[in-house]
Amino acid sequence: MEERKFWNEEIETMPLEKLRKLQEERLQHTVEWAYTRTKFYRRLFDQAGVKPEDITTLEDIRKLPFTMDIEVDTDVPLKDRLAIPEDEIKMFHSTSGTVGAVVPIPFSKKETEFFFTEGEARARWTMGVRPSDVVQVLTRFDCCFQGYRELGASLILMSAGRYNPDHQIQLTRDGRVTIIEHMPSLLLGYFERMEQLGAKVQETNIRMISGVGEGWAESYKRKVEEKYGIPFMTLYGAVETSPCFASECEARKGMHISSDAGIIEVVDPKTGEPLPEGEEGELVFTILAREAMPLLRYKVGDVGSLLPYEPCSCGRTLPRMSYVKGRVSQLMKIGEKKILPIDVEEVIAKIEGLEGEFRIILEKPEMDKLKLKLEHKPEVKELKTLREKVEEAILNEIGVRSELELVPQGSLQRVTFKAQRVEKL
Ligand SMILES: [Zn+2]
Repeated sequence: MEERKFWNEEIETMPLEKLRKLQEERLQHTVEWAYTRTKFYRRLFDQAGVKPEDITTLEDIRKLPFTMDIEVDTDVPLKDRLAIPEDEIKMFHSTSGTVGAVVPIPFSKKETEFFFTEGEARARWTMGVRPSDVVQVLTRFDCCFQGYRELGASLILMSAGRYNPDHQIQLTRDGRVTIIEHMPSLLLGYFERMEQLGAKVQETNIRMISGVGEGWAESYKRKVEEKYGIPFMTLYGAVETSPCFASECEARKGMHISSDAGIIEVVDPKTGEPLPEGEEGELVFTILAREAMPLLRYKVGDVGSLLPYEPCSCGRTLPRMSYVKGRVSQLMKIGEKKILPIDVEEVIAKIEGLEGEFRIILEKPEMDKLKLKLEHKPEVKELKTLREKVEEAILNEIGVRSELELVPQGSLQRVTFKAQRVEKL
């Protein structure tokens, strides 16, 4: 039997015009749903002087007020956001607490079916996961594995290794794992430990890495790919928006957006003005597949861009977005430039002699120079030469001056969850 090319051919290859029409209908429905069923949106729309009938085209979305990160905007009780009766909630997850409070997120039956099975399976299929795969999920985001099961792959979850890293490694080998899903910043450590225990990564069956949970510098991805010869595929989403909102395909130029399930806008973080395709700014989500807790014009706090539209060589017509570069809250002003920690990662990942672990020392929100602590490899003897090389690369590639302190390998604490690269003084 010939293998299917797409998981949901109708949606994934829908002509753009038809897709926009679908989004428009769903937007009208979602706005009406949120307004008539929740106190939160009714209050917000009334304050802004907008009524659901004002929203007829996709462009009208700009008439709607923005909504803030629910981890920050904690004054609104859950019942004010809830659009379905409590007894129709079939599952709860919660946000990760990255920027504020851990907030419970309710899901209806229809939502669990879309977000955690159909939608997730589609995103995984786009990445190239197939029924013959054995997937090992090493993240603590245990909400996201049903899609693997839905498409027929075998699964090894964290609980199988009793949350013990060395047991996980044993399972990677004995379970003949073909796909590892992990937080990007923790993956290198996992592979290094694997080699310490005598298992060569290249000699395992691993054929793909699925990276979730944080922005990841392209140069680091390439580094992992070159070192181990395994493609590093990216998936993007958040539990409150959609856990698998966008995923990378074989063409590997950005991620296809599940546009039937939501609309992404990119806006200037300061002014809220929409930015054109290709320009980087704050991502704003309007989720069209949400019922229990609607999310309209939701500022998730991530930085990225929409890619200029063009047909993809994989055959999908779904628009694409860039990889996510970091958080709006991580934007720093150095001289006249706005930069993110990932911009620094991109530069240092390419320099021989650096270990890769670093900290940005932020003394105040705006600085003239970028201050960095970087780990160097033990074999480096000429520290002055290395320092000059890094400073020059930062100036050439990011356009800012820098002041560096090189510290021996192992001096900086290793991150255990989402990479924290900034030390505020
Ligand atoms: Zn594609």
